[in-house]
Amino acid sequence: MTAVALGVPRLRSVLPSGEGRPDVPELVDRYGRVARDLRISLTEKCSLRCTYCMPAEGLPAIPRDQVLSTREVARLVGIAGTLLGVQEVRFTGGEPLVRADIVEIVRLSALAAPGIRLSLTSNGIGLDRKAAPLAAAGLDRVNVSLDTLDREHFRSLTRRDRLPAVLAGIAAAHAAGLAPLKINAVLMRETLEDAPDLLAWAIRTGARLRFIEQMPLDADEAWQRASMVDAAELLSVLGRRFLLEPIGREDPSAPAEEWLVDGGPATVGIIASVTRSFCGDCDRTRITAEGGVRSCLFGDDETDLRGLLRDGSSDEEIADRWRLAMWGKKAGHGIDDESFVRPVRSMGAIGG
Ligand code: SAM
Ligand code: SF4
Repeated sequence: MTAVALGVPRLRSVLPSGEGRPDVPELVDRYGRVARDLRISLTEKCSLRCTYCMPAEGLPAIPRDQVLSTREVARLVGIAGTLLGVQEVRFTGGEPLVRADIVEIVRLSALAAPGIRLSLTSNGIGLDRKAAPLAAAGLDRVNVSLDTLDREHFRSLTRRDRLPAVLAGIAAAHAAGLAPLKINAVLMRETLEDAPDLLAWAIRTGARLRFIEQMPLDADEAWQRASMVDAAELLSVLGRRFLLEPIGREDPSAPAEEWLVDGGPATVGIIASVTRSFCGDCDRTRITAEGGVRSCLFGDDETDLRGLLRDGSSDEEIADRWRLAMWGKKAGHGIDDESFVRPVRSMGAIGG
C-alpha cells in the first residue's frame, strides 16, 4: 500500500451494540473508563511534514464539504460539554491554525459549552499572530510541538525550515497568557542528543516539556519497535546533564510521568505511550475532521456523526450515537505485543 493511500482512507463505520451499557449520560465503556477529554481534529492539512507523522507530499485532501464546518464543530463541543460530561476539549489536526476560522471555532465553542476548558495542539506556525485573538476568544492553553532547537535537525525532521516561526509562536503564546504552555517533543534517534538543550531552554522560558515515545502512526510506515527511542534511553541522555527524580503522574489519567529536574521546581514529563501504555486510565474520545467518533487512536472503526449533524437529528440523538461508539472502546492498543496491527489512518489523519 502506498503512503498516500494510507493518508485519509475510508473506514468501516460500525456501531457497537449497546448491550450492557448502564443508562448514564457520560461516555462510559465496558472497562469502567469515562471519557472526559475530547480531541477534535479540524483538518488534515499542515504547514510541516514531520517524518513521524505525514508523507512528504502531505495527506490527500479531504473534500471541503466533508470537513466539519465552524458551527458543526461548535455544536459537537456543546453536546460534549452539556450532555456528555466532557470537561476538556483540545483542537488538533493536521495543523489547527491553518483553518482560517480557528478563532471563530474557539469563540463559538466557548459559548456552546460554558466553563469547558479549551486548548489547542499546534506546531506553532502562525501562533505569533493568532495567540492573542485565540486567548480573547476563550482559549485556555496551548501545547506546541517542538522536537529540537537545532535548525538543521528541525528542517530535516519536519521537511521545512520553519524553526524561527515556531519560536515566534511560542513567545506569543507566553505573552498572551496561554498557560501553562506545554511543549511536546517526539523521541527520534536523530534528535535524541538535542534533548538536554531542549530541556534547558524549556526551563529557562517557563514552558513544561514532555517527551513522547514515537508511535507507529507515521504515514510512511517507517516506525520500528527495535530502533525506536524509548523512555529509558532518554532518561540516560538527560541524566548526563540533569539530576532527575521520578515524581509520578499529575493525576491518574495524565499520560505523562513527571521527573523533578535538579531538585525542582522545574519538571520534565515523559509520555511512554509504547513501553508503559496508560490505556487502562484513558479518558479520551476523538472526533476526526470529517465528524467520525474514534474511541481510540488505534482501532479502525469510526462512527459517523456528520450525517446526523446534517439530517436534522437532535442534540440528544447525536449524544446517543456518540455514547454507543464509546461503549465499544477496546481495552488497549497493544503496540508492544507481537500481534500488534497498525491502524489504517496515520496520526495527521486521525488528529493527535
Ligand atoms: N500539528 C499539530 C502539532 O504538531 O502539534 C497537531 C497535530 S499532531 C498530529 C499532534 C501531536 O502528535 C504532536 O505533538 C505530534 O508531535 C504528535 N505525533 C505525531 N505523530 C506522532 C507519532 N508517530 N508518535 C507520537 N506522537 C506523534
Ligand atoms: Fe503536521 Fe503536527 Fe503531523 Fe508535524 S505532527 S506533520 S506539525 S500534523
